[in-house]
This record gives sequence, structure tokens and C-alpha cells, in this order.
Amino acid sequence: MIHVRLTNSMTKQKQPIESLDDKKIALYVCGITPYDAPHLGHGRCYVTFDLLYRLLIFLGYNVTYCRNFTDIDDKLLNKSEKEFGTPFKFEVIAQRYIDIFEQDMRLLNCKKPTYEPRVTETIPEIIAFVQSLVDAGNAYAIEGDVYFSIDSFPAYGKLSHRKLDGLCAGARVAISDKKRNPLDFALWKSEPEGHYYKSPWGYGRPGWHIECSAMAKKFLGSTIDIHGGGMDLIFPHHENELAQSQALQAEPFVRLWAHNAFVQIEKEKMSKSLGNFFSLDDIFRQFYPQAVRFYFLQHQYRNPLDFSLHDLASAQQSYKKLVKQFTGVNSLRCHPEPVSGSIIAEMLDFLKDDLNTPGMFGVLYKHLDTIVADSVLAGQVKYLLQEILGLTLEPLLEKELEITPEIEALLAERQKARAEKNWALSDELRDKLNQLGYEVQDKKL
Ligand SMILES: [Zn+2]
Repeated sequence: MIHVRLTNSMTKQKQPIESLDDKKIALYVCGITPYDAPHLGHGRCYVTFDLLYRLLIFLGYNVTYCRNFTDIDDKLLNKSEKEFGTPFKFEVIAQRYIDIFEQDMRLLNCKKPTYEPRVTETIPEIIAFVQSLVDAGNAYAIEGDVYFSIDSFPAYGKLSHRKLDGLCAGARVAISDKKRNPLDFALWKSEPEGHYYKSPWGYGRPGWHIECSAMAKKFLGSTIDIHGGGMDLIFPHHENELAQSQALQAEPFVRLWAHNAFVQIEKEKMSKSLGNFFSLDDIFRQFYPQAVRFYFLQHQYRNPLDFSLHDLASAQQSYKKLVKQFTGVNSLRCHPEPVSGSIIAEMLDFLKDDLNTPGMFGVLYKHLDTIVADSVLAGQVKYLLQEILGLTLEPLLEKELEITPEIEALLAERQKARAEKNWALSDELRDKLNQLGYEVQDKKL
């Protein structure tokens, strides 16, 4: 059987996924910091790793999937302060956005991971991890803070392919006189007496990176087969995770690092300050979540996705057509090792090759007529699309989409055209509305 291959960010090479232990695979993906509504970038990341999870399950792997919540962090404390006048209500903020995240994941048809630990539930393990690093000479405590000493870990910079000299120059502005090296990072942050958690170094709370090392070890053991996340996490987060975990063990911490590329808006990174920010909730008001999933999957995960509402609207139209093609087809389980050269094998081979979803859709569309003419083949393809791609292919129920002023204007213009029996203009406006993701149903005049 051909193995699934993924690009390893460490080597920049495609690497086969092989289980060391009876088809068991440990998958860790960095989760969200629940201080705001999840956005398109989150959607793309978690759909990518959901696809990988589904593919491995289909191929018979026994996958343990862990995805965390960073439910204590500066951003959460600041939001709590702003909203409630105290940082100590951060748990209320966290729960609110975890609920929204879970709802968004359900709508995108992402399977629930095996474990979804929260930092606030992992404090004893985090403290023990920091203590081990101090004992091993990889970390030092100073005035209640604990820092990881990057000079104690010669391989630092290997994952992000950075040279330490370059890193130091960049970090000079952030030099803290407490740190031995400006690149040393916090494992534990001190807080006033009685605040947050008690530790051997006084009261405080964990730094960001240590939580993933501690949670990965707690739920997956010392070696993770695949560690995933967005490309923006490679440095410093994953570089630091690697340093902390690898410093304490000889066996590899991670066998394969997999990262998905950004969602960009007109070639710029999506951000609130640039005013080009779309939360998943914003998008789901205008588009069907299943169509959004389909849109993500039309792009290979390692390529930046240049988002536009127009492209998403076209993807929604294509998805609707696909649903129609497979309506009435009975889903039939397909074999994980199909006859080589068959359409199913061709589709699977693309997926196994670094999750090449555009390649897979290429095979689907090339053979669509043949597929739908053969009820067995159509059933198997439907199964593949549902179980591995996670597309439900259920008819999209008409829902109330939000009507923006732009849409209202188009509708009014079209109504006028119809009253004047200007059918050409009316059709043109209907097409425009369709392109924007709206379906117009006319009643008799
Ligand atoms: Zn992480």
C-alpha cells in the first residue's frame, strides 16, 4: 500500500507517515486561544487536520488526536479586564469563545479530537515539566519567573531554519535584563501573592509554549507522530515547544511537523487592524458552512489561499451542483486498498500525496459523467467525499441569509426591471445575486 506522505517542515521534504506501533498514530494540533471568534484562518487549519485525521482513520490507522485550548493568556486577561473590570473573569471569556469554536467546528463537519485539554486543567503537569527543565539545567528561575535557556539546547532554530545570530539581532529590542540570553523565553510568569497558581517559584501562571509540551506528553506520550498547526506557529511557538520537550529526552519529540499556509485577503495577511478580517460566523451568515469547507478543500493546504467572497460564491455554486449530482445515490463503503488504476485509487493517491485535494477534485470532475452513470462507483465516490473529505453532500436547506444593503439595492433594481418587463436586465441581476451566494426565487407578478 502507498503510504500517506506529508511535507515535514523540519526537512522540507515529503515524508511517509509510518506507525511505529501497530498502526497507532499520535496527532497533536495546536488549538485556539479563546479570546475572540474563530476566523477563516482557523477554519482552514482545522479543516486541513480534520481531513488528515479522516484519511488516516479510513486507511485503518488508530489515531489519537489531541487539540488544546489556551484558556489562560494575556489576551484573555486583557479582554476580561476590559469587559468586567477584572482579569479574574477570564474563564467566562474562554468558555464563551470555546462554545462558538465548537459550534463552528460542528458546522464545518470537523470530527471531535480524542482529547481537547485546557491549560487551566493541566497546571500540575505544566509545573512538573518546568521543574524537570530546571533540574536538568535547561531552565533557570529568577525573581519568580522561569526562563528556558536556549544556550542549553544547541539545536535551537533547526525547525524554523533560523540562525541564532540573526535571531538575536531581531530580539534586541525586547531584551529583558533578567534574561541570560534575549531569546530565552518564559516558562512561568510570576504574579502577585495569591494570584493564579501556586508553584515552587511563587504564584504565577504558565508561559504559552510550555502548555503544548506538557499536554502533548500527558495525552500522547513522549513521541508525537505528527504535530500540526498553522505556518505562523513555526516560530517561535513550535521551535520553543521542540526545545523544551527534546531537551529532556533522547527519543524524537516529533517525527513529522506539518503546517498549513495562511488565508490571505488580496495578498495580505488577514487582520483586524487592516479591516480585512472575516470571522467564521460572519461568513456563515452569507454562505453554507459545507460550501466553505468545500472551498478550503479546493486548495492544497500548503499553498496560501487568496480569499475572495466572489471565489467563495463560485465554490458554493459548484458545491450545490455536486450535491445535486449525488442526490439519490446510495453511499457505498469503498475499500482502503482499491484496484490500482481505478478512479477511486486515483482519487486516493492524490489525497495520500500531501493531501493534494485539487488533484483529487481534478480526477472527480474529469470522470464525473462516468462516475454518476455507474451506481456502484457513484456510491463509492460519495462515500469517499463524505467520509474522507467530510462533505456531507446533504441538500442545502434554504436558510435566511443576511441581506446587506448592497444585496437590498440589487434586489430593488431587479424588482424594478421585472416590473418594466426588462427580462435581460432582470436575468443579469439574478446571476449577479447568485454569484454573491444568494438564490432568488420569483413569485408570479
Ligand atoms: Zn501549541
